[in-house]
Parts: sequence; structure tokens; C-alpha cells
Amino acid sequence: MKTFNMGGVHPPEMKEISAGAAIERFAIPKIVVLPLSQHTGAPCDPIVKKGDLVKTGQLIADSPKPISAPIHSSITGKVTAIEHRNHPLGPRVKSIVIEGDGTDEWIEGVNPSLFDQDAPVDVDFSRAADFRRKIRDAGIVGLGGAAFPTHFKLSPPPDKKIDTLIVNGAECEPYLTADYRVMLERPRSILMGTRIIMEILGIKNAFIAIENNKPDAIELLNKLCGEFSATDAPIQIAVCKTKYPEGGEKQLINAVTGREVPSGKLPMEVGCVVQNVGTAAAIYEAIALNKPLVERVVTVTGSAIGKPGNLMVRIGTVCRDILEYCEYQGAEGNAVIMGGPMMGKAVKYLDVPVVKGTSGILCVAAKDVAILDHRPCLHCGRCVEVCPMGLNPTELALYTENREYGDLLRMGLMDCMECGSCAYACPARRRLVQWIRVGKMEVKR
Ligand code: SF4
Ligand code: SF4
Repeated sequence: MKTFNMGGVHPPEMKEISAGAAIERFAIPKIVVLPLSQHTGAPCDPIVKKGDLVKTGQLIADSPKPISAPIHSSITGKVTAIEHRNHPLGPRVKSIVIEGDGTDEWIEGVNPSLFDQDAPVDVDFSRAADFRRKIRDAGIVGLGGAAFPTHFKLSPPPDKKIDTLIVNGAECEPYLTADYRVMLERPRSILMGTRIIMEILGIKNAFIAIENNKPDAIELLNKLCGEFSATDAPIQIAVCKTKYPEGGEKQLINAVTGREVPSGKLPMEVGCVVQNVGTAAAIYEAIALNKPLVERVVTVTGSAIGKPGNLMVRIGTVCRDILEYCEYQGAEGNAVIMGGPMMGKAVKYLDVPVVKGTSGILCVAAKDVAILDHRPCLHCGRCVEVCPMGLNPTELALYTENREYGDLLRMGLMDCMECGSCAYACPARRRLVQWIRVGKMEVKR
């Protein structure tokens, strides 16, 4: 079994709460809020105005910058506002608000009756030259959480030779099961998406990496791999150890290929490209079905949720509407987290929308939220031991607390992926990641 060579932790998996729930289509929302910044890179500019009528899948915002991804309307209706709204990942962001008319009329060239099938049409690989542009035009970004524009990731400079594709199905975050359900229910779409990426980059070697806590997904994809592999370019399954953060890009590359991405560099430096399984399926849909990225699977789970599940949700759907459907038992002291417990962000307002990178909504009941006082460092070294990036988290936090920002870069501050392993392992409950985040902000400032 494959795994990365440094650090890692084993938090309780908690996936059983939603793992058995098949993907269910959430009702078309009456209103959507589409932030102009929901990907890594430059925000988009609106190309519609208040009062415009839009169809589902219509382009409504774009940017000329290379690292950006266009945004499409996820419902049919009228643009009622373009204004600052709450964002799930931070401060308020300019957003396009659309009120639906209930018709869900798609743009020309898209057949929604094909969406819920697994790879219903073949891909014409002779048109591979157009694939990159189609992926960009469909607004595809990484669905694993980072939301990096996919077309850019698939455009390495000519001097970077890519020889390995890793399709990331590790889903190492506790609680989350969206990728797991996509692997079980859309395996052919994932494999078609994998072939498309291989054709774009001319890669002869692809792995679908899955943690060993998902044996049924491993078995299913393993059975289908041969069907979708080209004769000289096999797709294989890489079974990885269940260990957090196995799905981190650099950790997964190390686990699958043994290569180490140097500090401050990207996976292409060691000849690798990593794409999430959901992204691979979305790439297939963009190429074969002309479908822009207007919906995604979101896990809704946690002890404050009465009806946990994996929902296919239109981007822009307001969190409160989803929680109501999932019988959220709201109470003072609950924690609502967009994403998983290790890397997700707690939100204060439930009117935040689902964005392209929202993989889950975790609602923890107040009785399960441990607000523990932090104590002085015990110098036990646990945080150093578990850091998958080989950093010294206690020092990074201490230097930030003492406002000694000068040395932070030398100490590898920017290599911190904010995985939370150090804070999870710390017996003194030091708020290590929180301090490291402050340090990053100060250094950037
Ligand atoms: S949050 Fe940063 S410092 Fe802490 S374990 Fe993860 S990578 Fe290391
Ligand atoms: S794990 Fe906590 S107590 Fe131990 S060295 Fe790190 S910061 Fe200090």
C-alpha cells in the first residue's frame, strides 16, 4: 500500500454517516448567489446586468486573465442584483444574484436528460486539440477544494515534461463522501475524463489513487480501467493507506511515484499533474455533453444534521436552503463548516452560497464542539512529528505570535498547506494553524 513519507495523522473517519447515501438531486433553487470569485486566481467581471434574463448554463461572468475561470448561470431566471454578498471562504465578495422562474431552460447544445447517466456518449478523441479551450469555456476548476482553474493546470510550459497523471480519489478529509459516491456512481465518467486529460497532455501513465477505506470503489474502478485505457497508455489504480492528508497534492505524488515536489514548486516540476475524481467527471461532461460547471456533489453531514446525504446541488444555492432540507437542528454553539473538519472553514452566516470548491457542509452540534483552552507549549515535538511538509509548526506559530515575521519565510511558512495535522495532534491545544494563517497574511502584507 502506498503512502507519503513524512508525518500524517489518523483522525476518526466519520464517513459512515453519509457514505451509504446515493447522490440525490437537490431541487432547483428559487434564488442563486454566484460570487465573481470562487476559484484560485483573478475574479471575473460580470457580462450581464441587473434585469437581464438568463438561461441555465449561460455565461454570465468572465476574465481575460489566464488564471481564472468563467462563471455560468446555474438556473433560468432574472438577474436581480450585482452586489457584495457573504462568501463561504472569507470576506464579502461581489456576486450575481439570480431569481429563478422555475423553468430550468438550458442553453442550446446541452441535453440535461443525459446528466444523470454514467458516460452516456463517446468522446471523439480526434478533436483533442479543442479540449483545453472547451474545459476553459465550461468554467471547470478543481473540485477537491482548492478550485484551481483546470485549463491552466493542463497547460504546462513546453520545458516541463509531464509523464504522470494522478486522479485523486483519496478523499482523506474525515466526514466527506462526495468523491466516494462519484466513484461508485460515475466511474465511467471519471475514466473518460482521465483519458481526455491523458490525450491533452500526451501522458502514457495514469493512476487513480484511492485510500484503502473505500474497497468497493477500488474494486469497481479496477474492473473498468481496462475498458478505458488506450493500448499503450494504461490507467491503473493506486491503493493508498488511509492516513490524513493522503489526498494533499504533494503527499499523493510522493505516495504514488516516490517523487518529492521541491519547496515552493508545483507538481509539474516533477512531471506530475493531479486532478480530483469529480473534476475528471466534470471534464468528461464539458467535452462530451457541452455542460458548463453549474452543479456539483456536496456532502451534508454531522451530528446536527437529521438527514445526511450527498446532494447534487446547483452552484450558488444558499446554504440555509440545503440545511433546511437536510433537517439541520440549529442551536446556539453549533459549528457549521464549509468543507471538512480539518481544512474547512467555519461560517457565521447561513446565507453563504455553495461555490465550485464546496465539497461538503459539516454541521456539528454544540455538545460535540470542544472549545478547549490552549495552554503553553510542552515542547513534546508531536506537531513536528506529524507535519507532512517537514515544518516546525510550533516555531512558526511562536514567531508569528511574537511578531517576528522576518524569519518566517526562511522557516518554510509558505510551504504550510494548512492541513491542520499539527493542531490536531497538539496535546496543549495550541492554535497552530490559526497562527500560521495570521503569519502568512502578515508576510503577504
Ligand atoms: S498545518 Fe502546516 S504546519 Fe501544521 S501540519 Fe499542516 S503543513 Fe504542517
Ligand atoms: S505539539 Fe503542541 S505542545 Fe507539543 S511541541 Fe507542538 S506546539 Fe508544543
